[in-house]
Amino acid sequence: MGNKPHTPAKSTRDELSIAEHVRGVLDQNRRILSQTITKIESQLPRHQEQSDQIVQALLPHRKESIRIAVSGIPGAGKSTLIEQLGLLALQKDHRVAVLAIDPTSTISRGSIMGDKTRMEQLAQSGKAFIRPSPTAGSLGGVARKTRETISICEAAGYDLILIETVGVGQSEISARSMTDMFLLVLIPGTGDELQGIKRGVMEITDLVIINKADGTNRSCALETQQKYQNVLHFLTPVSRGWLQKVETCSALLNQRIDIIWENIQQFQKTTRQNGFFQQRRSLQAYQWFLDIVEQHLKEAFYSRPPIQRELQLLKEEILQNKLFPTLAARRILDLFFKK
Ligand code: GDP
Repeated sequence: MGNKPHTPAKSTRDELSIAEHVRGVLDQNRRILSQTITKIESQLPRHQEQSDQIVQALLPHRKESIRIAVSGIPGAGKSTLIEQLGLLALQKDHRVAVLAIDPTSTISRGSIMGDKTRMEQLAQSGKAFIRPSPTAGSLGGVARKTRETISICEAAGYDLILIETVGVGQSEISARSMTDMFLLVLIPGTGDELQGIKRGVMEITDLVIINKADGTNRSCALETQQKYQNVLHFLTPVSRGWLQKVETCSALLNQRIDIIWENIQQFQKTTRQNGFFQQRRSLQAYQWFLDIVEQHLKEAFYSRPPIQRELQLLKEEILQNKLFPTLAARRILDLFFKK
C-alpha cells in the first residue's frame, strides 16, 4: 500500500470501487457488506452494472452453506425462532446471515418485519449479519435480488443463511426457489385459514414447526402436530429422500430448538448424500438464469415508447370488446419484432 497521501476524490469517498466492495466482503467487513447489498438492490443502471461485476468476482469465494427459508404469518414467532436457531448455530461455530423477503411492502406500503427491533441478541454477535427488511417503496426488485444477496453473504463467510418470509403473496414460492430447506412456522390450535396456509404451501415444506408449544398451549400443540403429521403423510416429499415432518418447540423459552437444529443437520446429511442437495441447487441456478432473461425481455418490451403507445390503444379496443386479445397480442408483438 505504501504511505501515499490520500486524496479523497469525491466519487471515491462517496462510493466504493468494485475492488473495494470485493475486498471488503472478503474481509468480512459488515459495513461494506451492507453497502454492497444496497448497491445490489439499487435500481440505478450504473449500480446494477457494478453489482453484476461484484457478484461475479465473488462467486468463486462462496463458502459452502445451507440456505433455509422460514415462513409463517406475522406473529407466528419467526424472528424469535430465527434468533434462537442463529444463537445455537453460533455456539456450533457457524456464521449466520438473516435476510428477508418482504412482499408486504407492495401491499400495505409498510414493512411488517422492518418495524420491529429485530433479533437484538443475535445482532450483537460479530459472527451474525442481519439485513434489515427493505424499506417500503424499494420493493419488487428487492425479492428479485435476494439471490445475489445470498451469494454475497456466502462470499463473506456466512454458512447458515436464514431467509425470513411472511406467508402472504408469492413470497413462499420465491423463497423456496432459492433455498435448500423450507420451514413453515405455525402456532397451536388455529385452523389452516388463520395460519395463512395457502394451497400448495404444505407441499413445498420440509419441516413444519408448531411454535409456542409452551404453558397452556402444550397439549394443543401436540394435537396440532398430529394433525399436520397426518396431512404430510399423504404428500410426496419435496426434497428427495427426506420425509417431511412436524416438530414442536418454544422459541420464546428456547425449548426444543436443538431438535429443530438436529432436523436441519439430518436434512442436510440425507440430501447431500443422495445428491439431491446439489441437484436442486443446479436446477435453481438454471431457473434463476431463465428468470433473469425473462425479466430483461419484459423490461425491454414494456419500456419502449412505441410499445407503450400501442398498449394504450389496444387496451381501449379490448376493453370495448372491439378487438380479440390474441389478435391484439399478435399485433403488439409484431410491432416489437418489427415484422
Ligand atoms: P414473527 O412476526 O413471526 O417474526 O413473530 P415474532 O418472533 O415477532 O413473535 C411474535 C410474538 O410471539 C412475540 O410477542 C413473541 O415474544 C411471541 N413468541 C414467539 N415465540 C414464542 C413462543 O415460543 N412462545 C410464546 N408463548 N410466545 C412466543
